[in-house]
Amino acid sequence: MAVNLQEKKSIKNCEILIVGAGFSGVYQLFRLREEGFDVHLVEAGAGLGGIWHWNCYPGARVDTHCQIYQFSRKDLWEGWNWSERFPGWSEMRDYFDYVDEKLELSKDVSLNTRVEAARFDEAQGCWILETDSDTDFEATYIIVCAGFASKPYIPDLPGLEKFSGPAHHTALWPQDGIDFTGKKIGVIGTGASGIQVAQEASKVASELVVFQRTPNMFLPMGQERYSEEDNVKMKSELPAHFEARKESFGGFDFTFDPKSALEVSEAEREETYERLWEAGGFKFWLGVYGDIYTDETANRTAYEFWKKKTRERIDNPKLAEILAPSDPPHPYGVKRPSLEQWFFEIFNQGNVELVNLREERIDRVLPHGIKTIKREFNLDVIALATGFDAVTGGLTSINLIGTDGVPLKEKWSKGVRTHLGLATANFPNMLMSYGPQAPTGFCNGPSSAEYQGECIIDMLKHLRSSGFSKFDVMPEYEEKWRNHIIDIASKTLFPKANSWYMGANIPGKTKEILMYPAGLPSYLEEVKEAASKNYEGFEFS
Ligand code: FAD
Repeated sequence: MAVNLQEKKSIKNCEILIVGAGFSGVYQLFRLREEGFDVHLVEAGAGLGGIWHWNCYPGARVDTHCQIYQFSRKDLWEGWNWSERFPGWSEMRDYFDYVDEKLELSKDVSLNTRVEAARFDEAQGCWILETDSDTDFEATYIIVCAGFASKPYIPDLPGLEKFSGPAHHTALWPQDGIDFTGKKIGVIGTGASGIQVAQEASKVASELVVFQRTPNMFLPMGQERYSEEDNVKMKSELPAHFEARKESFGGFDFTFDPKSALEVSEAEREETYERLWEAGGFKFWLGVYGDIYTDETANRTAYEFWKKKTRERIDNPKLAEILAPSDPPHPYGVKRPSLEQWFFEIFNQGNVELVNLREERIDRVLPHGIKTIKREFNLDVIALATGFDAVTGGLTSINLIGTDGVPLKEKWSKGVRTHLGLATANFPNMLMSYGPQAPTGFCNGPSSAEYQGECIIDMLKHLRSSGFSKFDVMPEYEEKWRNHIIDIASKTLFPKANSWYMGANIPGKTKEILMYPAGLPSYLEEVKEAASKNYEGFEFS
């Protein structure tokens, strides 16, 4: 290790530097090591696990069933037992500790090390990365595995800094927790994290105020406890679950029904919806008729079913109209429908209030609470469940400078450009996993880490075996890829929602589809095809 005397920082050299220790980064680490590469991983957080390190708010829980929310390596799953179908954050952390111990990952990991800036040095043919720790890095290749949810978004709420109690974004929750017992809790936002916090707070808070902007079409989780016997049975079935993922749009162990929602009889449709609903998890999202996502009439059948099921659970008809409106705010399922356990019932309790921000926006945060344009709410704690600068935020918050001197943030300010969701022009030798224009947010996290992960590993092996040490993207191919995915998305209902899938939750962000919208199997086919043509769209030297 060399020492940079000027800055008194040491410099570590490696062939491949991975940024981020979630499923994607950890997968890259153990697979690339197995392939004989000299590889190191840096992680901003104090532990492995990616989002499961940061998201320790009350109720934080996985919403993919555990069977496929884990690595598919037999030497890992055969020694691990899950306690629940949808594990909580603490169990996910234990799982990552187990993976670490089993595969001896820590020796190649630098924790508490955030990459702040990076540029490719043409003369040396390597990346130079500056971190906030006492070590900087030089690497021939970098793989950015920063995740789609590593840049929390907090909207401009006047007065927030003057709030006298704790006010935290869910992804920046204090690691030692906050006791909600007997307190007045405000939860801003009703996405996946917001409803998980609200469910927990409703049990112990003296008052809970839920601030909702857009009604979220939550699905019943169908949580189950698993015994040791259940785990034995599960393990006998796991290989089939893993195998099914590569045939599934979302990298799950099930996929869309090829029939049209409109071609079947009403009775059959109702029976299908009932079955999917009862199965819990994402079955009623990714197991429905495929044309739900391309045809508004078909889509409305799913919404009507969801509305009927949801309204049955809410006593007050006025609240039912706010939570599950007569007409959908956007087509069903084109925003991520999180899983809930007892969310709708909390509004039947005396200690819970719902505020419809569409009618009464927040005016300001006061030292003792929140003032809307109509009322004031006294609060002790505020949970900001306000989402993320999703998909691109992790990458653009690193000061990545292109070989043309243009920062990535600037390059993408007028829309994202990548080739195959793997790399972007003028950032040679940089690969991305679970980033923009790949299946990412439409795909189960571990499935993406493994399947897209293998595409990355294949490419690095190709470079090594061909004797190349540098690649870059040909700009015309990133325009082609961009137009291709915009074209696919235009045939779906996804652009009809102001979702983070579309970049529409962040003021000023270009509204565009941020993910590859034709599903994991098609994506893998497209990458395979490019690879078979000598990695068409890339230039090697
Ligand atoms: P992440 O897990 O996000 O890990 C990225 C890591 O990169 C982070 O640890 C971060 O600290 C690190 N990092 C970022 N920038 C830097 C930097 N500059 N320097 C150093 N380190 C950096 N997906 C599902 O499929 N199913 C689920 O049930 C599910 N539940 C979720 C629940 C929550 C609360 C959230 C926020 C997301 C959830 N997701 C879920 C999506 C989730 O992102 C993926 O499942 C999976 O964690 C992705 O893994 P990853 O390694 O790509 O990214």
